[in-house]
Amino acid sequence: MMSLERDDAVVLRLSEFSEASQIVTLLGRGHGLLRLIAKGVRRGTRTRFAAGLDLLELGEASFALPRGDAQLGTLADWVQRDSFAGLRRELLRLQAGLYAVELVTALTEEHDPHPELFDALVDTLRRLAGKGPAAPLVPRFQAALLHAVGYHPLLDECASCHRPPRIRGPLYFSAGAGGVLCRDCEMHYVEKRRLPDGLLTTRPDAGDPFAWFELLDYHAAHIAGRRMSSASGLGGLLRRAAAAPPAGGG
Ligand SMILES: [Zn+2]
Repeated sequence: MMSLERDDAVVLRLSEFSEASQIVTLLGRGHGLLRLIAKGVRRGTRTRFAAGLDLLELGEASFALPRGDAQLGTLADWVQRDSFAGLRRELLRLQAGLYAVELVTALTEEHDPHPELFDALVDTLRRLAGKGPAAPLVPRFQAALLHAVGYHPLLDECASCHRPPRIRGPLYFSAGAGGVLCRDCEMHYVEKRRLPDGLLTTRPDAGDPFAWFELLDYHAAHIAGRRMSSASGLGGLLRRAAAAPPAGGG
């Protein structure tokens, strides 16, 4: 008999594998990124996964890890714990959730668990599904993810000479250098972008959400080697949210 693993997990991605099965990408709290075949997932039929799996939901997975040369394990059972239904009521919230799981898929690897990243993802999805402001949750999660995987950029010292950068005057950021550059070092880097004035006097979770999103997305795309497909849509929504704060939002 196959021995089954169990883990709390969030559904990051679903793709068709055959008519009756899907490949499910999960972030497991204790297992990290998991790619599993789920058989009998056809919606609307009374199968083991009666309602199928949905993107962005939290559940408890029972699965068999891949054996021998197999690339994929097998999902045996899925018990939904939270669908975070509230994040589907507003496009910004949904797009932020989709961006978060795309980033996790791009920047983590199988067999490399990050429980603190799992907790940050669940916390972010829960907050996105709630009533509080959505925009600041995006750079907050980007920063948490970059910390968890060891790629958080240096922001309080020059990434090249490690002296504190002067806050006044134009400052540059290089993803390849791994952070902010002082004015003496900046000229030696081709890959760089100018930071919005004053951004470094704030933090990712308490600053201009759009400016922080853009900076951390630029950094994440450099590490991943590609831009997230959900990034430009989310960027547009964050820019509009900044230009027109919701009524009653102060
Ligand atoms: Zn420097």
